[in-house]
Amino acid sequence: NGRSRPERHVAVFAFPSSSHPSLLLTLIRRLSSASPTTVFSFFNTAKFNRPVFSDFSSPDIRRYDISDGVPEGYVFRGKPQEDTNLFLAVAEEELRKGVKVAEADIGLKVSCLVVDAFYWFSGDMAEEMNVPWVSFWTAGACSLAAHVYTDLIRSKSSQIIKGSSAVPDEDEIVDFIPGFSKLRLSDLPSGVLFGNLESPFSTMLHKMGKNMAKATAVPINSFQQLDPNLTKNLSSELNNFLNIGPFNLITSTQNPPSEVDEFSCISWLESQEPRSVAYISFGTVCKPAPHELVAIAEALEEAKTPFLWSISNDSKKHFPEGFLERTTANGSGKVVPWAPQVQVLEHIAIGVFVTHGGWNSVLESVGAGVPMICRPLRGDQQINSWMVEKVWGIGVRIEGGSFTRRGTRCALEQVLSRDGSRKGFKERIEALKELAHKAVEPNGSSNENFKILVDVVTRVTL
Ligand code: UDP
Repeated sequence: NGRSRPERHVAVFAFPSSSHPSLLLTLIRRLSSASPTTVFSFFNTAKFNRPVFSDFSSPDIRRYDISDGVPEGYVFRGKPQEDTNLFLAVAEEELRKGVKVAEADIGLKVSCLVVDAFYWFSGDMAEEMNVPWVSFWTAGACSLAAHVYTDLIRSKSSQIIKGSSAVPDEDEIVDFIPGFSKLRLSDLPSGVLFGNLESPFSTMLHKMGKNMAKATAVPINSFQQLDPNLTKNLSSELNNFLNIGPFNLITSTQNPPSEVDEFSCISWLESQEPRSVAYISFGTVCKPAPHELVAIAEALEEAKTPFLWSISNDSKKHFPEGFLERTTANGSGKVVPWAPQVQVLEHIAIGVFVTHGGWNSVLESVGAGVPMICRPLRGDQQINSWMVEKVWGIGVRIEGGSFTRRGTRCALEQVLSRDGSRKGFKERIEALKELAHKAVEPNGSSNENFKILVDVVTRVTL
């Protein structure tokens, strides 16, 4: 069939969570096109493998399903990260078994592990197998640094104590975290200093940060010009710390095609004034409380801001009475269950992105030059929002931490009005946009870094 015999077998461990698997698959597709003689075995739970492989298949990237650790007949009790905790209890054993199956199946021993960075224990596996360990961090340099420096942060902030309690003062803005000139402690990712530090998830992140220096390479979906200081610091802590993004700006034959616009978002945007529309989305997992959705809706109507809102159908019941009907009838709003976000953000009509500050959303907004209003909810969203507001100056965080009618109006005015242009959000994000596009050009930094990664992954031929 004209295809050469595979020379090597790379095992890929994807993590069953939000957009993690699809991002890792995008990376693997790029690696596969750069190295046609490599076969990749791609591991994840069936539930998470199904959607990413539904519209894609390649003989060189083979799907392997592993158990999700949910016992038969198990009834979920709605505890935080219940499914992740069940999975983590079986993950290592499942992956070890899976690798043996894939090796027998493909007829080649694994010569490299490319893993979601969450799988901290796979460093030991790589060591036993005597192969390179590539630990892919799916978010930004800012959150990665928080995990790499967790021990340092914990020890230094134990001295910053509020009153008589033994808990560090969360409002304290500190300057001791390498790569950050300043950072507010409460904006650290949950599990670093606040929240349940002993949960399986926090423990996983802590061990990840401690073990990462053992990795042969640590690629991330970002570009180094976005975070020169963090890049410098992390490069001194980690081997081959490689900014190889933004992924959504890399067009290659192996990249997934542009999404279909099932709900006609783009044609609706065509009817709107340039830079007038607020695009609203909180990613694939997070849902702000019903009263916050009401506050957003009221603020949009009061401020007469046209909007495109991606929100699950079952959340629409929380909208104020008549909101959907009025805004549809007067053409000022469109509500959809899913939007082709990258294309939407690139549309000239979009003036602001109201976001939860998920890493992909932030990076896609930077790539399109759209200033943001952030309402972080969990995980790394706080630290990403800190960067947006305080470091890059390309947007604001919602006043008081959650949506109120007044706070939302005020934020919309700040970003969309002339006042907004005085604040320079648009100017600064345009400058970053340009750097992002340069990074992925043929001789750009992200492309050069990607070549190093290809070299690490394909160095060994068995
Ligand atoms: N997304 C999209 N359409 C939507 C909502 C989300 O395409 O209507 C995509 C968005 O482009 C991004 C991803 O879903 O790539 C969300 O990732 P992010 O890291 O921002 O948030 P998460 O879902 O992981 O919380």
